[in-house]
Amino acid sequence: METVIGLEIHVQLKTETKLFCGCLADSAGPPNSRTCPVCLGMPGALPVPNKRAVELAIRAALAFHCAVHASSTFARKNYFYPDLPKGYQISQYDEPLASGGWLELEGRRIGLRRLHLEEDAAKLVHTEDGRTLVDFNRAGVPLIEIVTAPEIRSPKEARALLQAVRRTLRYIGVSDCDMEEGQLRCDANISLRQEGSRAGTRTEIKNLNSLKALEEALAYEEARQRALLEAGEEVEQQTLTWDAAAGRTIPIRSKEEAEDYRYFPEPDLPPLLIGSEWLDEIRRGLPELPEARRRRWRAEYGLPEYDIEVLTEEREIADYFEAVVRLYPRPKEVSNWMMTELLRLAKEGEIRLGPADFAQILRLVGEGKLNRAAGKGLLEEAFRTGRSPEELLAERDLLQISDAAELSGAVSAVLAENPQAVADYRGGREQALSFLLGQVMRKTEGKADPKLARALLLERLGPNRT
Ligand SMILES: [Zn+2]
Repeated sequence: METVIGLEIHVQLKTETKLFCGCLADSAGPPNSRTCPVCLGMPGALPVPNKRAVELAIRAALAFHCAVHASSTFARKNYFYPDLPKGYQISQYDEPLASGGWLELEGRRIGLRRLHLEEDAAKLVHTEDGRTLVDFNRAGVPLIEIVTAPEIRSPKEARALLQAVRRTLRYIGVSDCDMEEGQLRCDANISLRQEGSRAGTRTEIKNLNSLKALEEALAYEEARQRALLEAGEEVEQQTLTWDAAAGRTIPIRSKEEAEDYRYFPEPDLPPLLIGSEWLDEIRRGLPELPEARRRRWRAEYGLPEYDIEVLTEEREIADYFEAVVRLYPRPKEVSNWMMTELLRLAKEGEIRLGPADFAQILRLVGEGKLNRAAGKGLLEEAFRTGRSPEELLAERDLLQISDAAELSGAVSAVLAENPQAVADYRGGREQALSFLLGQVMRKTEGKADPKLARALLLERLGPNRT
């Protein structure tokens, strides 16, 4: 049996104001402070489309290779619910902003059906004493809805697809896609079919608000449907929600209760016309997309796939890597330092260390002027204080001792102070060498070039008896 999955993804656009009025589209204000007659659905109030929202929706459509239509229309989606002050939501139906398109996933293309604009509903807040409150700050916030073709073959692939959508939209500045803030939400439909035959009955899971929830809910539903079909029973067409705590899906309505939204064209808004000049301008403004960047990195840098994935996940990190490599062209070394040191530090806060300073630390380590431990220490201090490595180096005496004459004093002292270890080594105990090397590092406060120190020790100790 083959699994067939399709996703409907809602994304909050990164605009200052709402889709059809001038109210702020942020969630920071106190409840119901971002409202006006338009987004509260007062009689006679008229919507005016937000140009920036249309532009961001087009950016997204172009990034996903959709055909953006020269003319599209808004439509009313009618339903009655307390989160919907007008009794309908302004969306797009039979003439969406864009259609077609695809996303690349590990070399495979997954088709998209459409991408359209719509307004968000208000937020219902359920209190502990059983009341439900309505916050209209979210009503009218601009969203895009992206509908994929049913071409996803596993819950894992669905997760990877949603992740790819998030990565791309962040890259192009269309949305922050913070799933905890509800800026990216997903509904998933799933059915099973015998290889090559028609699709089976599908179920739809609503409001999956994390990557984990998406994958787990689909895996549960896949197993549930398979068990039914293998037992000769039928899958009922249903709408479900995911109960993460219980680890199962729960039906909220069946086919008989399926909603009829009575879509019709929005009479208060003319068709949305998009000129080819504006479209070209938006296209020219798109940065290199993550998939293209990954392809280029594979060819240019020869990095392991894992490094490429980690470093291209966020555009700022990928830009940073490229800037460092331009100054210090050893990609694998830069990648190692970024993945182990810089990204760890970046979790503490903003990266205040410029690519040039980072490259300089790497160069000092690469040239043997700074040992690795001192390099890491310097990086950490520069990161935390925002001061340049040069300044810190001038202040502190951190440079590695790679001068044989300078180091041999320390080596002589260590040999004189540890006659037992010297005798042990000469008697054949190889480990005594590590001990002596450790003593040299200690004496030089970690500044000795370990390779040189080892060579000097061996020279002075002479051959051992093994
Ligand atoms: Zn408003």
